[in-house]
Amino acid sequence: MKEKYLVINAGSSSLKFTLYSMPEAVEIVNGLIEKIGEGDSSYTLKFDNKKISNEEEINNHTEAVKVMLRELLKNNCIESIDEIKGIGHRVLHGGELYSGSVLIDEEVMNNITNLIKLGPLHLPGEIAGINSMIECLPDVPQVAVFDTAFHQTMPEESYMYPVPYSWYKENGVRKYGFHGISHKYITKVMQEKFNKQDVNLIVCHIGSGASITAIKDGKSYDTTMGLTPLPGLVMGTRCGDIDPSIIEYICKERNLTVTEVTNILNKESGLKGLSGKNDFRDVTDLALNGDSKAKLAIALFERSVIKYIGQYYFELEGNLDAIVFTAGVGENVSYVREDIINFISKPMGIEINKEMNDNIARFKEHQTGIISTDDSKVKVMVILTDEEYMILEDTYKICNYKKQKVKGLK
Ligand code: AMP
Repeated sequence: MKEKYLVINAGSSSLKFTLYSMPEAVEIVNGLIEKIGEGDSSYTLKFDNKKISNEEEINNHTEAVKVMLRELLKNNCIESIDEIKGIGHRVLHGGELYSGSVLIDEEVMNNITNLIKLGPLHLPGEIAGINSMIECLPDVPQVAVFDTAFHQTMPEESYMYPVPYSWYKENGVRKYGFHGISHKYITKVMQEKFNKQDVNLIVCHIGSGASITAIKDGKSYDTTMGLTPLPGLVMGTRCGDIDPSIIEYICKERNLTVTEVTNILNKESGLKGLSGKNDFRDVTDLALNGDSKAKLAIALFERSVIKYIGQYYFELEGNLDAIVFTAGVGENVSYVREDIINFISKPMGIEINKEMNDNIARFKEHQTGIISTDDSKVKVMVILTDEEYMILEDTYKICNYKKQKVKGLK
């Protein structure tokens, strides 16, 4: 029988899924169910260069899973439910408990539930997604792949905040880091490219959410996001690093609650706060039309990337195999890469290969490549990230390890 694996990314009102055939890891279909429980729900499936979209009342995640399975069968993406041999779930937060992916059981579910306070915006939707999959497919092994896990190798000097130590011990206040699935994938690709495990990298995952990770000896050494995905770089709607005193000050000045201000820092700040637009294409269009706020937003965004490349270059003591750009902006926006490389060019001994840089984007001649000149001291590269693939790989390994273990017991 054919073996299929599902990768699930559940949100509070959405369910993204990708189905793969294994072991060849070929994507069969991907889809999205949106506005679950909001009265105007819909689903989209993409496969074989086809796109199917429909509106349908979907009241909760269990109904969403049933619609997904029905559509997979109806569109011959699977012949029978029994073909699904494993399910991988993206989970935002694993706290200090998980430094790798795990097979989900009752204890894991209890642990993830106890972590909701660290990821209140994401974890409830993800837990609903896992529970619904277990309810609909109780015999299929399910794996949790945490976005924080890869960063558990950071040393104390990287993950501790200079606040009362008891906040760490009693309340879990520390840097956890996010986008770990993407940073791990890029590290793995670079380990293969350089044919060594102990790569030193600065990985710039810059999309609508953005983070940079310093990779030392193939492991996460420092990263820009923190207790939550709010700090670090300027992002589409998140502020990145700001003076924490701004929160109390603006609460008093504008008569807002801490929750309201935190919401604004997450959803109405960053590029959007400065320019009114969060999508990089829109901000670029505004800037090209002379909009000074959009120009400022781009300048602040680029400056935040430059600052962290500098910081991590020093943290890695200048021992660097490559700087990597990835995610929506990193993969597609050549002028941003050019501005950043030109800024760091002199101190780091890097020169841009402009022709190559201008020709790399998902829709251009090249999708990946080296964008620094041959005689640059550090290579600068563009690599496509693939978080779904990383979740698939971990899920497949864990499900098959489990099978072997069970076989071994017999
Ligand atoms: P991500 O979160 O990785 O999906 O990245 C989303 C961001 O990448 C958005 O700000 C998009 O505007 C930007 N982006 C994606 N593709 C392009 C493109 N072809 N040109 C400019 N920006 C892009």
